[in-house]
Amino acid sequence: MRVPSNSLGFKRLLLRWFRHAGRDLPWRATRDPYRVLVSEFMLQQTQVSRVAEYYPRFLQRYPTVHDLANARPQSVREAWDGLGYYRRAENLHRLAQVVVKQHDGRVPDRPDVLRTLPGVGPYTAAAVATFAYQKRAAPVDTNIARVLRRVFRPRLADGVRGERTLAALALAVLPHRPRAAWEFNQALMDLGATMCKARRPDCPRCPVRGACQTGRGARG
Ligand code: SF4
Repeated sequence: MRVPSNSLGFKRLLLRWFRHAGRDLPWRATRDPYRVLVSEFMLQQTQVSRVAEYYPRFLQRYPTVHDLANARPQSVREAWDGLGYYRRAENLHRLAQVVVKQHDGRVPDRPDVLRTLPGVGPYTAAAVATFAYQKRAAPVDTNIARVLRRVFRPRLADGVRGERTLAALALAVLPHRPRAAWEFNQALMDLGATMCKARRPDCPRCPVRGACQTGRGARG
């Protein structure tokens, strides 16, 4: 995949904005892979504000992967109460047991190995690899896919949703320095959640408008 010509400008504007306006979320203060995993499981189907409320409580009860692996299923379910979609709690519990038994209690760092764990799909695997280990991985969820489509207007050769094209694009525009890649991935999420929303993108106030192929032509 060729790197789009507006990629450098986009990165500069996005990172500059993120460094002073990025959301202060509890899971961004840690690189502990277990804690990052817990946040990613919670965020799979629950709003950020709700996760921010439950995340510290859950970790107070199960501060390490060993604590969670040794817990009773009923207790894990209680700790998850209020977040819904209990299947995630069951998977997270089983995942902790697998990590303890098969990986010496260490959450794997490679996306392909992470994907073998219960409840971990391509997005969560890439998210843990970048957010915990600062690996060069690009998690693409619906918010990030929307931002990439609007900013770079790629030709989606592999169909309407163009998942493979967007995954390749996300990697092509990712900064090389580990810390910058971490920031870039977090910043894309914030941009999708606060400015580049699905229904009404706020192009007039958007910090990356100068480098966005859609925003440049928008009114306002
Ligand atoms: S300028 Fe508009 S379309 Fe482009 S990223 Fe910002 S909000 Fe989205």
